Amino acid sequence: MQDSSSFIKIGVDDTDSPDGMCTTYVMHKIIQAVGEKGGKLYGFPNLVRLNPSCPYKTRGNAALSATFAVNAGDERKHFDVATDIVLKLSEISHPRTNPAVLMLKGRDVPVDIVEFSRSAVKRMLSVESAIRLMKKHDIAGMAINGPRGMVGAMAALGYDFPSGYTYEIIAYRSEGMWGKPRIVDRESVIKMDMQTRSCTFDNYDYTSSEIKIAPHTPCPVLVGIRAIDYQCLETALKSLKFEERVAGYRIYKTNQATDDHIIPVAGIEQIEPYTSVTIEATVKNLPKTETGGHTFLYIEKNGRELRLAAYEPTKQFRNIIMQLRPGDRVRVYGSYNPKDGEPETLNLEKIEVLEVAQYGRLSNPVCPVCGHRMKSEGKEKGYQCPKCRYRMTGPKEFKPEKRVITAGVYEVPSRARRHLSKPFNLAVKK
Ligand SMILES: [Zn+2]
Repeated sequence: MQDSSSFIKIGVDDTDSPDGMCTTYVMHKIIQAVGEKGGKLYGFPNLVRLNPSCPYKTRGNAALSATFAVNAGDERKHFDVATDIVLKLSEISHPRTNPAVLMLKGRDVPVDIVEFSRSAVKRMLSVESAIRLMKKHDIAGMAINGPRGMVGAMAALGYDFPSGYTYEIIAYRSEGMWGKPRIVDRESVIKMDMQTRSCTFDNYDYTSSEIKIAPHTPCPVLVGIRAIDYQCLETALKSLKFEERVAGYRIYKTNQATDDHIIPVAGIEQIEPYTSVTIEATVKNLPKTETGGHTFLYIEKNGRELRLAAYEPTKQFRNIIMQLRPGDRVRVYGSYNPKDGEPETLNLEKIEVLEVAQYGRLSNPVCPVCGHRMKSEGKEKGYQCPKCRYRMTGPKEFKPEKRVITAGVYEVPSRARRHLSKPFNLAVKK
C-alpha cells in the first residue's frame, strides 16, 4: 500500500421499497462507481440483515457496507459518488423508504460503533443515537425522506459478525428486465444444488418444488446463492441456465443464517417488544389450530405464560406443534411483536423438543390364569376374572401411550425462514 492511501468505509441502508430496488444493487453500483474514480474495494462488501422484528423495515431489512482503499484527500470525492448513486437509484417516491449513506474514514471501526451495530441486529435503536456517533467520529452522512436510514447505515459500518458469517453471490438483471418474470432453468438449479451441497444452502425446496434462489419482487436481483464459504459461489452461479443475460454479480459477506438476532432469555418477563429470543419452557396446554390455519399453544415458566404461534405460512411445521402436549419440555426460538388486542405471542422460527412428557392410562391387570382382562370389584377390593373367576388384588397397570413426537429439533420450512435464522444443521463459520 502506498503512503498516500487511506481507507474509507461506506454504509448504505433503506433504498428499496415493496415496488422495487435492492440495497445490495445500490452497493454494487457504488463499488463500480468508486472504482472508476480510483477507489479499490478492500475485502468483501458486507450485507447485514438487521433486527427482523423492526416495525420500520421495508423488505428484508438489509444494510450494506464496503471498505475502500483510496488516495488520501479523495475521501469526500468518493462519498459524493456514493450519494449520487443512492439519489439516482433509491425508491425515493415511496414514503417509507428512507435512504441513508454514511462515510467513516479509516479502516478500524471505533468500539462504540461496533457495539451499536451488534445491538441493531437484536433491538430497536434510535436515530438520535446514530447521529450522536456521527458527530463524535466525524462521519459524513446524507439521508433522504428523514433520518431513519441512518440507523441501518451506521449498523452496517461497524458490524463485526459476532455470531459467525455466511456468503451470498447475487447476480443482477439488466435494467430492461426489472419487473419481468425470471426464467431460471429448474434442472440447472437442482444440479447445482446436488453438486455444491457441502458449501451452498437453501437453493431448492424439494417438498414444494420451489426454486429458492430467485426472489419474487420486481427488484434488480436475478438470483442469490447462499453458502457457508465463498470459493464455491462463482462456479455455482456459472453452472445455472437463464433465459436472460447476467448484467453483473458480486459476493457479499453476510450475517444470514447465523441466529445473530436471537437473544437468550431465562424468563418470560425478560422478553422485550420487537426482539427475537430463545427460551426454555414447559408446554402448558394442548395446541389448537384456529381460523386461517394458524396454530397456537401456551408455554409456561416460573408461573408466567406465553402464547406461541406457528402461522399458516409455516405449513408442515404446524403439524409438529400440534403434536406437543402439556408437560413437554421445549426450547423455542421466535420473535415478539406486540399487537393491540392480542395476547403476548412469540412467532416461532424453530423449536427444540428437549423431553416429551409420558402419557398413558391405567387399566385393570390381565388374569394370570387365562389371560383375560380382569374386572374391578370396587375401590380397593381387587379384581375378578370374568371368564375363570380367578380373584386377585394389586395395583392397576400403566399403559404408556406412544407419543408421535420425539425429542429433537424442528424448524419452519425454508420458504418461511427468516434471513437471519440459522438452520439447525448448518455449520456456520466464526
Ligand atoms: Zn381368568
